Amino acid sequence: KFNEMNALVTGSTSGIGLGVAQRLAAQGCNIMLNGFGTAEQIAEAKKAIEAHGVKVAYSGADLSKPDEIETMAKEAQAAFGHIDVLVNNAGIQHVSPIESFSVDKWNAVIAINLSAAFHTTRLFLPAMKERNWGRIINIASAHGLVASANKSAYVAAKHGIVGLTKVVALETAQTGVTCNAICPGWVLTPLVQAQIDKRAAAEGISVDKAKIELLAEKQPSLEFVTPEQLGGLAVFLCSDDAAQVRGAAWNMDGGWVAQ
Ligand code: NAD
Repeated sequence: KFNEMNALVTGSTSGIGLGVAQRLAAQGCNIMLNGFGTAEQIAEAKKAIEAHGVKVAYSGADLSKPDEIETMAKEAQAAFGHIDVLVNNAGIQHVSPIESFSVDKWNAVIAINLSAAFHTTRLFLPAMKERNWGRIINIASAHGLVASANKSAYVAAKHGIVGLTKVVALETAQTGVTCNAICPGWVLTPLVQAQIDKRAAAEGISVDKAKIELLAEKQPSLEFVTPEQLGGLAVFLCSDDAAQVRGAAWNMDGGWVAQ
């Protein structure tokens, strides 16, 4: 079945999105990539997907802009005809106490981490319903289930996308379309590396020490989750065995939310 499938993975030029896209491609799924990056980085991501012998397309849509998301939907239709698997993964982080939290950053985090998934879902769901098959996978976070200080926009957006996931799951409950969220703990991607580097600088410690401290604070396994492992869970959610997994917020977090 994966051989006839087309997936759109947002924010897939790097990190978790690229890992998920690669695992789907390994199953024979055609991939539309999206996200920012240098021409070289985008070409490399495309090559990594093509290595699996599947078709690859790319949209440079800025997901903070609803009109660009509409353009991306048209690009996906032009490239593949229809999309079977939608992975809402693009996301950004901003860390600051709420009193000094930049209003522009708040708006950007909510737009990219939450509203973009509303727009892609409303645009891609009709064709999935028509074909009576589809998978919508929202990459939320452990921060979709519990909070941390200084991440007001991110935690609000991630709790929001878990709520959106449940609503879409209910609205599609009697169809062949499912909608679920994956809630990763710490994954060593550029998004997290930036937080590690900031911590090392602020505390005057080495990057390695900052890495351990970051894990010790939240993630009992003291090991990072990998994009490949998250891709494996996404592949399972796309399988027929997962047909009755609906509205889940599935944590893969080294024990973070078990505490
Ligand atoms: P990353 O920075 O490596 O990748 C983010 C991707 O989103 C990139 O491809 C980037 O180009 C794209 N992107 C950013 N802004 C965009 C925009 N306006 N329009 C289109 N694309 C945009 O980050 P990551 O860690 O791989 O994060 C991916 C997702 O996983 C995010 O939603 C993040 O919140 C979530 N997440 C990450 C972690 C972690 O520890 N890294 C943990 C839990 C959840």
